[in-house]
Amino acid sequence: MDTLELHRDSIIFDGHCDTLLEVLDGKRKLSERSSEGHIDLPRLREGGVTAQVFAVFIEDRYLPAGAAKQTLRMLDTLYRELEANACSFILATKAADIEQAKSAGKVAAVIGIEGAESLEGDLALLRVFYHLGLRLLTIAWSRRNQAADGVHESRTGGGLSSFGVDLVKECNRLGILVDISHLSAAGVRDVLQISPQPVIASHSNAYALCPHVRNLNDEQLTALAEKGGVVGVTFVPSFLTEERNEASLDKLLDHIDHIVRVAGIDHVGLGSDFDGFGPPPPTGLDDVTRLPGITAGLVARGYSAEQVRKILGGNFLRVFRQVVG
Ligand SMILES: [Zn+2]
Repeated sequence: MDTLELHRDSIIFDGHCDTLLEVLDGKRKLSERSSEGHIDLPRLREGGVTAQVFAVFIEDRYLPAGAAKQTLRMLDTLYRELEANACSFILATKAADIEQAKSAGKVAAVIGIEGAESLEGDLALLRVFYHLGLRLLTIAWSRRNQAADGVHESRTGGGLSSFGVDLVKECNRLGILVDISHLSAAGVRDVLQISPQPVIASHSNAYALCPHVRNLNDEQLTALAEKGGVVGVTFVPSFLTEERNEASLDKLLDHIDHIVRVAGIDHVGLGSDFDGFGPPPPTGLDDVTRLPGITAGLVARGYSAEQVRKILGGNFLRVFRQVVG
């Protein structure tokens, strides 16, 4: 099987994108191929994506009291796109939906919320959002919220609040993936300690290769792997390398190699953060249509077809099945 065939045949799961914000702002429609940004349906299909996590991110101007309403607006945006593109785009609320999307040649959307601000400190909202399709919760964006401190609040050494502890437990009970990307070091430690279920880092790289506060050190990578979790390597240029003009597909493959070495082949996935960073994109990763280059690069670096399938989406699908169902 050549590398393009291997790519087309694999389940590809991308753990994070910020495209919903662009759609809500009226800059793009998911159904129309754009030369702007990184993701729309035609390009997702060309890139071979099976499951795409669409993040709900709440901007500062809606905080704190407008967060839940803005979350609903973003979910409405996704639901309207699902309705308008029903022949090629479905909502995934369980692992079987992703497998069905693969066999039907459709793209599956997974709903994620990036930061507990959306819950306005109330687990009832978590449960309602679960009924609306929420299956992944990034506990904190980089700032502080009711549940935890993000990486930009590391001064105080804060981790999870009592609400944050209850939130992780409720996510486990409902079947929502807990995501530690953007979370403070103390928060990462707390989550790994209290969550019986595997947790993920939806879009983070290896600190050993690029010492950015958003990346995970080897100790964190190992702890996440011991829990059975997955790290989605991200394409954000400043998380790939300190020299922005050197950001490239090759650097991304270096991060995959490192995480495989430290955490193991079962604990690496993809978390592009497409539409979450400005130009220029890393060389070779201009938009989602370039994903086949990752498959070709992994094969060139000696990964077997089975290992490539795990990295492209098999690992994320495993954890999704285990936690969500
Ligand atoms: Zn993010």
